[in-house]
Amino acid sequence: MPWTIADPPNVAKNWSVAKQKACVKSAQAALNRGASEENSIFACIGAAENVDHMDQNQETPLDLSRQLRGNKKAPIAPLPPQTNVLEAQYFKELNQMVRFQHKIIRETVMTKVPIILKDARIDDYVDDTGRVMANARVQFAEAYPESRMAEMAGRAALATNRVNRAYYDRFYKILNVNPIVSEPWLGPTVKAFTETNVSLITKMTQTEFADVEEIILRGAQSGSTVKSVQAEITATFPKEVNRAKLIAQDQIQKFNGNLNRNRQIDAGVKKYQWVTSGDERVRSSHRAINGNIYAWRGSPRPPDGDDPGQAVRCRCRSRPIIE
Ligand SMILES: [Zn+2]
Repeated sequence: MPWTIADPPNVAKNWSVAKQKACVKSAQAALNRGASEENSIFACIGAAENVDHMDQNQETPLDLSRQLRGNKKAPIAPLPPQTNVLEAQYFKELNQMVRFQHKIIRETVMTKVPIILKDARIDDYVDDTGRVMANARVQFAEAYPESRMAEMAGRAALATNRVNRAYYDRFYKILNVNPIVSEPWLGPTVKAFTETNVSLITKMTQTEFADVEEIILRGAQSGSTVKSVQAEITATFPKEVNRAKLIAQDQIQKFNGNLNRNRQIDAGVKKYQWVTSGDERVRSSHRAINGNIYAWRGSPRPPDGDDPGQAVRCRCRSRPIIE
């Protein structure tokens, strides 16, 4: 369907007018090129991310960089883009999967808790539980095989790469160098991201099933009521949603940090400035090194050896130093 400002992609509903305009323009252009609706939404996110980027870097717009260059002083590079919109998009997909798992647990497992607890006095409850859980696991695996998880992760990686690469295309212009076309590290980096994510997602969903199974068995052994066992199961749901959020944020941030590192090194950048996101959620150890200059290779290196984005949920960025 055609995207308009009045009816933008869902993800853009609460965005600023500037971001919605950029989103709709890119999404519509993608559709006109014959892209799928999903890819048009990624185009929308990428365009909006660039608007974000322009907003945040008013202090060093590209024009100023060029002026500085004219003055024979090294230009100050703008900051690489933030990834919060990409993280939100990835989380949305993971959350759909998690909610689907919870639906199976509610419909296939929780409805059987009364029968299992009734059998608790005889040893049948162990077999009952095993059967019910196996059924739930099969239903989930049929809808979400590993290949589907890999697709979700792969899409998130490619969307992040697109936004990141757009920044470096502008960066090459500031440096007055030809865009770097060959990036032999990119394929392996996307592959490693996808494999790590499939493993994290699989572990997350398996842990959820194992936790539910344990709650039922423990409830049956200790003579719990149906209500309390069901309540205990329901209480695991928000924890898994939070886990999915952590995976989406942390993994995209790490991946984006890797892209920044590789692309800056490819462009001949030796050093970067550590820049935090500047809000109250920044960990104190990173606030302490905000503004410091570090080398990608050699010294000085950051205190714990992690570059921006590598520590858990680190939203810090590396501003390339142009020498
Ligand atoms: Zn940080």
